[in-house]
Amino acid sequence: MDSAQYDRSVSKTALRRLRLAVSPVLIVVIFLLDTFTPLISAVAVFYVVPLLMLGDIFSVRQVRLLFLGMIGLASFSLLFDHGVRPEFATLLRYCVSVAAISITGFLVMKTIRDRQTLLGQAALLDVTHDAIFTRSPEGRILFWNRGAERLYGWSRDEAVGQNRHELLQTQFPTSLETINDHLHAQGLWEGEIRQRRRDGAWLTLLSRWSLDEPRPGKPVVILESNTDITASKAADAALRASEARYRNIFNTLAVGIWEHDFSCLRAALKNLRASGVEDLHAYLTQHPEFIRDAQQMIPITDVNETALRLMDVERKEDFFRSLAEILPSAEGSFIDFLIAVDEGRSHYQAETEVLNRRGQIIPIIVAITFPPPGHEANRVQAVVLDITERRRLQQAIDHAKQEAEQALRAAAMGELSASIAHEVNQPLAAIMTSSEAALRWMDRTPPDLDETREALTDVLQATRHATGVVSRVRKLVSRARPETEAIAVDSLAAEALRLVRHDLGRRNILVRTDLAAADALIRADRVLLQQVLVNLMTNAAQAMTAAATVAPTIEVRTRRDGDRAVVDIIDNGPGFDPDSAERAFDAFFTTRQDGMGLGLAISRSTVEAHEGTIKIVSEPGVGARLSISLPLLPA
Ligand code: ADP
Repeated sequence: MDSAQYDRSVSKTALRRLRLAVSPVLIVVIFLLDTFTPLISAVAVFYVVPLLMLGDIFSVRQVRLLFLGMIGLASFSLLFDHGVRPEFATLLRYCVSVAAISITGFLVMKTIRDRQTLLGQAALLDVTHDAIFTRSPEGRILFWNRGAERLYGWSRDEAVGQNRHELLQTQFPTSLETINDHLHAQGLWEGEIRQRRRDGAWLTLLSRWSLDEPRPGKPVVILESNTDITASKAADAALRASEARYRNIFNTLAVGIWEHDFSCLRAALKNLRASGVEDLHAYLTQHPEFIRDAQQMIPITDVNETALRLMDVERKEDFFRSLAEILPSAEGSFIDFLIAVDEGRSHYQAETEVLNRRGQIIPIIVAITFPPPGHEANRVQAVVLDITERRRLQQAIDHAKQEAEQALRAAAMGELSASIAHEVNQPLAAIMTSSEAALRWMDRTPPDLDETREALTDVLQATRHATGVVSRVRKLVSRARPETEAIAVDSLAAEALRLVRHDLGRRNILVRTDLAAADALIRADRVLLQQVLVNLMTNAAQAMTAAATVAPTIEVRTRRDGDRAVVDIIDNGPGFDPDSAERAFDAFFTTRQDGMGLGLAISRSTVEAHEGTIKIVSEPGVGARLSISLPLLPA
């Protein structure tokens, strides 16, 4: 309460006390004057003065007693002064006084009753939570309810009499003039305003003004009722902001989103189960019409911008209505989807295809998280990822792969012809040597038929080997599985030696064997592995011949080493220099003028195809050892 208001309330109480003190004195003075002075005028009329003074302090009953008492006093004075037979003029004055006192008394009682009615109405206004006050058109506050006290922080006593615009610093949505014009024209105005509370906080209010029925001679009163909507406005704004944020995310996501209503589909599947369908998969394959119907049962209720772009649709309103419109008719993965819904799975993801507005097939990955059973399924979002680019990339990769395979095949053809040329070289040489030997034995007199037969047997064996080599090398190069059988390592080495023995003999090379693998078995393609050993021995022979090695010797050793069989081809030739040792297995690496550089490359391929390894152990000038290790067959 400010000081002016305090002063006002103090003076009101003082005035009331004064009236209470003065009124009885006045009544006594009037009575004495009326009774004991010979004044002719109607002194009793002055009783109305204390009556009026006490009128707004007393209750109706008290006023009634008071004015009846005053009439009693006036009557006593009349009798005391004039006896029971007063003069007519005196009686008339008495009657006027009594009438004046009575009329005033009744009026005062009516005013009190009116005030009580008004107070009752005001109490009703106090019950409401809204801030309600009445004011003059200029803004002077006439009435201020409890709601207003609570909302703004000023008590009724503090607010009444103040200017409402100044007190509440009201901010209007439009000019006050326009609002007042509307109020006077319609008798009502309603709008959103902002007002300040006593503590300085600003409130947003829904304000309703109504004009009191203008009555002639009565001042115009405006009733203003304000509802605080600050909190709901803030909540509303927060909700709108969150909705806008969600919309923004929804629309700008790089993945397409469409929202479905699965309620009908769920119900249809439930009905299907209720009708006795147990194997849903079988039912769906036998009833493709159900699948089509099911697609129609899934309306699309919302989509984001990315989905619009993906489906080549300009506006949301023009988007497809149901899944039936966008899924190609032969969409097989839809059965899986229906089963997922039927089983109440929480998640479904698939790679599928959709048809856009132009009828183009768009490959997509779709992922859906279903609401748990028992929850509404009318706003379920599917996340859709366009994988056109990924598919295109995959196709490009596949194409490149195909081309690379073709190129590899072409290279393999080259490799094949080179390899065959290389590999048949040795058997051809062997055939030639053996044929020449056979001829020489035949030319003897008498011809040595036994030696001739043996030489021809070698020719035959070398020819068979050559044929075998051609077909095997072809298989090896085309990466076909080798024709394997269980072979004893020692017999393999002995057979290979037999194939080269003429060549080695021609070169005066001594052959030593140390076959110690006993009956160790390996799983291998006999011809191919023989050819590897032939290659290694031929290489050794060629190297020693070229280096003119003294007492050239080739040693063939076999042994077991744990679960592996080891075959060593050892020579005492020039050995590999470190650079050659490193590159010797590369295709087309050769140090020989007429060499093809394929022998070791093919040998390594062959050994590796048998899950074996081949390595060079060489000391330049001392000789070379080529060591092959192959997995043994379990005994
Ligand atoms: P090519 O025999 O046609 O040259 P290879 O692949 O069989 O091809 O051999 C590659 C190279 O390895 C040979 O040119 C030779 O230099 C070297 N080489 C192979 N075996 C031996 C060996 N036992 N002693 C020394 N050098 C060898």
